[in-house]
Amino acid sequence: MAARWTPAPLLSASAAVHGAAVLGTLAVPAAWPWAVGALVANHALLAGAGLWPSSHLLGPNLIRLPEAAVQRREIALTIDDGPDPAVTPRVLDLLDAAGVQASFFCIGRIAEQHPALCREIVQRGHRVENHGHAHSNAFSLFGPGAMRRDIQRAQATLSDITGQAPAFFRATAGLRNPFLDPVLHRLGLRLATWTRRAYDTRNGNPERVLQRLAAPLAAGDIVLAHDGHAARTPAGEPVLLAVLPRLLQTIRERQLRPVTLLQGTIDMPFPVAHSDHRP
Ligand SMILES: [Zn+2]
Repeated sequence: MAARWTPAPLLSASAAVHGAAVLGTLAVPAAWPWAVGALVANHALLAGAGLWPSSHLLGPNLIRLPEAAVQRREIALTIDDGPDPAVTPRVLDLLDAAGVQASFFCIGRIAEQHPALCREIVQRGHRVENHGHAHSNAFSLFGPGAMRRDIQRAQATLSDITGQAPAFFRATAGLRNPFLDPVLHRLGLRLATWTRRAYDTRNGNPERVLQRLAAPLAAGDIVLAHDGHAARTPAGEPVLLAVLPRLLQTIRERQLRPVTLLQGTIDMPFPVAHSDHRP
């Protein structure tokens, strides 16, 4: 059994604000405007934290590989929104040719449509991770039940198809709310975000995408790219396919070592964030 879930300090503080607002209003009814103001401010802070993908305020969040991985010059390529039969097989070939392993955050609903392709990702040495079942744009507005059902369904689908349980979860566009952390804790998943992204579902300019991903690339980086929902180049090619060969070349030139997220975090206690909290 995993360690008990411990709320992030912001969540504990928010619970305290709610309690104080209720008790304060009961004790001094005329204080209600203050109580409402405190609650509004608190909710704005919580919503802001959820719309900031790299925040730690709502709970643990892997943004960058840990120091031990940096020492080994590791980086992690993460490829989201697939599997896509028009793109993923060619991505797999490019990765194979470079001898590189990546983490694919697959959408459960899409994986159900292409189970063989999803299985092939794992058979070729990569990891399949959990990007939710529906990939809803409203994910960050979900309540705890809807959030759990969506993530649990993808976890079951991806585990059944590949024979491997995903170890990481990534929210749609990285957006979330305070209900996510306890759900992930219960499912034994770790939240993963990124250090480098190029908005390559909207930006089809390979030079710009490469510039954003490769120019600042350094040990410890987690790179976000898309095989599913990939923007097209002016020539009609999925932008990842235009960019990946040169990105892999940059990785070689800088003597960086691409690993899966699981490999890059091998020295971290599991689950990452609850290591400080013994039951
Ligand atoms: Zn996505």
